[in-house]
Amino acid sequence: MINGFTGFSNKDKFQYSRDVSARHEQDARRTPLEFNDAQLDAIPEKERRWSWVEIDLGAIRHNTSEVKRRLRPGCRLMAVVKADAYGHGAVQCAKASLNAGAEWLGVATVDEGVELRQAGITQPILILAEPPISAIPLLLRHRVTPAVYTAEFAIAYAEMADAHGLRAPFHLAINTGMNRIGVRWDEVMEFVLQTSFHRALVLDGIFTHFATADCPDTIDFHLQARRFVEAATALHDAGIDPGIVHCDNSAALLRYTETNFDMVRLGIALYGFHPCPETRKLIDLKPAMSVHARITDVRTVPMSEGVSYGLNYRSPGSVKICTVPVGYADGLRRALSGRTDFLLNGRRCHQVGNICMDQCMFEVDMRTYGTKPRLNPQIGDEVVIVGSQDGEAVTIDDMAVAAGTIQHEIAIGFSHRMPRLYV
Ligand SMILES: *Cc1c(COP(=O)(O)O)cnc(C)c1O
Repeated sequence: MINGFTGFSNKDKFQYSRDVSARHEQDARRTPLEFNDAQLDAIPEKERRWSWVEIDLGAIRHNTSEVKRRLRPGCRLMAVVKADAYGHGAVQCAKASLNAGAEWLGVATVDEGVELRQAGITQPILILAEPPISAIPLLLRHRVTPAVYTAEFAIAYAEMADAHGLRAPFHLAINTGMNRIGVRWDEVMEFVLQTSFHRALVLDGIFTHFATADCPDTIDFHLQARRFVEAATALHDAGIDPGIVHCDNSAALLRYTETNFDMVRLGIALYGFHPCPETRKLIDLKPAMSVHARITDVRTVPMSEGVSYGLNYRSPGSVKICTVPVGYADGLRRALSGRTDFLLNGRRCHQVGNICMDQCMFEVDMRTYGTKPRLNPQIGDEVVIVGSQDGEAVTIDDMAVAAGTIQHEIAIGFSHRMPRLYV
């Protein structure tokens, strides 16, 4: 108890009080009909909460065609749009990439494939993993091609296809050393002979995935590549057409053009990120994602007062503290607290204090430096959380380093609570 205070439970003693709880009950029973739904729906998402993600589809097209023109003629390009296109929006990015030269789409789950079909996309779609047998009707209904590596799945898939007078095309996943999924490279013949009796099954492609395509060392990469070629050759020599032969992800397709084969699988570089430092000199990529917010509060915090949970950050006195409605529930990782900058009027400002679930704070230095005009932050001013502004940039690469992770995880993290705007 503080000075004997326990709250004002008895309102009768206030001269001007109303019975608040009775009024709440009355209000809850009536719907204010004067607001019509069309008018409410017309309030733009970014005016409901001042934070949003912008996706530059021109960058997706640019990155696609930059990769496409490096490929030998006849080599197909698969745009990997799994995980909602690494957080960028699967349908929009798939369409943009297809327009710029991609021929195939790669996804991770059955539902991701169905989503693309329901958006009217007709190009071939490969699921980069083997789905549960119970999902086979969805594959056949929506013409989504699975990766396959178990005989049980292959047979069940073939039998259901046959029962409906359909073919059962698949890509055989081959494990050449990553040890995640697939038939071992030296057991591929056995697998194919074991399943090939089924007339509906069509081996439409074979693929493997590299564990170290983005690593400086190249020995393990070449070992995997040799094993993959060994498996492809064994099929070929036995008179079996392996279909589309593919193995390269972004790092591999840029660094090792000799393994581009019949198709490459473009993921992280499609969105404008370099998978490793080695690719920077090989291609010009444009990041497609930027994250924006508007200031929702501004205050002067006296010297040595703390800010945010834990009060770990202490004001040096010469700053204004601004709040934006972006928090770790939106994907601004709490591990980035005090380790990232925001851009305001083209100037870098340090994010300060612990990042909260729905909001966070940054400091604006109010001292003057030379001829630079002092910033004068106001409620409603736009702030860049990721992206560039007047020549300054905050990148997802920087954030990934600061948070001790890779760009994929940061980009995918920006959650759908923030609307995505396509520009
Ligand atoms: C995710 C994935 C890719 C794309 O990889 P990036 O490194 O993002 O280019 C390619 N192939 C498979 C099998 C994948 O799972």
